Amino acid sequence: MSDHASYGFTTTILHSDRQKEIEHGSPHKPIHTSVTFGYQDARDLAAVFQGKQSGYRYGRQGNPTVSALEDKITKMEGGASSICFATGMAAIGALFQGLLRQGDHVVSSSFLFGNTSSLWQTVAAQGVDVAFVDATDVAHVAAAITPATRMVFVETIANPRTQIADLKRLGTLCRERGILYVVDNTMTSPYLFQPKSVGAGLVVNSLTKSIAGHGNVLGGAITDTGLYDWSAFPNIAPNFRKQAAPQQGMAQLRAKALRDFGASLSPDAAHQIAVGAETIALRLERECANALALAQMLEADPRVAVVHYPGLPSHPQHALASDLFRAYGALFSFELREDIDCFDYLNRLNLAINATHLGDTRTLVIPVAHTIFFEMGAERRAGMGIADSLIRVSVGIEDTQDLLDDFSAALVA
Ligand SMILES: *Cc1c(COP(=O)(O)O)cnc(C)c1O
Repeated sequence: MSDHASYGFTTTILHSDRQKEIEHGSPHKPIHTSVTFGYQDARDLAAVFQGKQSGYRYGRQGNPTVSALEDKITKMEGGASSICFATGMAAIGALFQGLLRQGDHVVSSSFLFGNTSSLWQTVAAQGVDVAFVDATDVAHVAAAITPATRMVFVETIANPRTQIADLKRLGTLCRERGILYVVDNTMTSPYLFQPKSVGAGLVVNSLTKSIAGHGNVLGGAITDTGLYDWSAFPNIAPNFRKQAAPQQGMAQLRAKALRDFGASLSPDAAHQIAVGAETIALRLERECANALALAQMLEADPRVAVVHYPGLPSHPQHALASDLFRAYGALFSFELREDIDCFDYLNRLNLAINATHLGDTRTLVIPVAHTIFFEMGAERRAGMGIADSLIRVSVGIEDTQDLLDDFSAALVA
């Protein structure tokens, strides 16, 4: 099958494995369980180790099944190459392990996935300074940049309050300053948004969420969009400078982060993620439509104090979201009126599951302040605009009317 640049998103993913020779004509890339790879000629083994010939060496730094998934992620992001990791957090941790040095500075957002925020605090304790600013306005990021700034790291839509980073202007700023621009695309996924379109150099995805989509497998990926000039990045070690400039960043990440820290994606997980990824467009269309219907219904109800969803005209960045994203995402959050207890409300829901996680086929709900944001304390929560009664909803693919009935029945009970 020949490569065809004009195929749509889903066609491209479905037929991605067949772009390369695939064993026995199997439509799925087989699960290769071998940890090591043998060569008839010992000289070939040496050539692979010396980077003179392509080939697999050891499962920790590459596997054919994982490579097939990496190709698929690269196609989804319109990028140049990707590296998969065992989890989304391993992919984010790899940025630190593979690309940053003591004394470096990172500008990130105050509205971050909780574990990423926690990770940046760990990084700060190890000598990389991290500034947390309100990245919905590029001016705050620009003001935080210092001569030591090596990276700007933001998410697309923040979880749980759905603030949207000033993604386009941040891209322009980073290009002008020659700073690596990293976008965590998990909340939008490459189906709703390609960070390459706003100038991101690297894109992070938690494959666990919308890409795998069924809450049954963990994974993460970093994609190089090909836009960043690695020859300008000061932290590339001499060994990786020997590669052509476009390959330097990923070569160092694969060796220094994936190989040396070993948070590798298993071939079984890669297969499971690849199967899930085939239906991402269908799932997200339904999830986003369901999220919009639920958000509209709740916003119109006097028993609901506020709804945060980029698809609502009341959202401060509704116009920006309309401009950037194919749809407004599968996640929203809301606060009930003060006299309705959020735990009682959650317990009256029949379909929605009280659980963390997002981007699943099933609708999940969680009282944010008491769970995923409990550890950071009341003061930081207040700073992030997270009220005690805030409920986060990750909307699934259930029939729309069933969800509307469930969420409204719980209001009246
Ligand atoms: C879930 C998530 C992660 C971490 O992904 P895991 O696969 O759970 O490790 C990172 N960033 C965002 C925005 C997420 O939602």
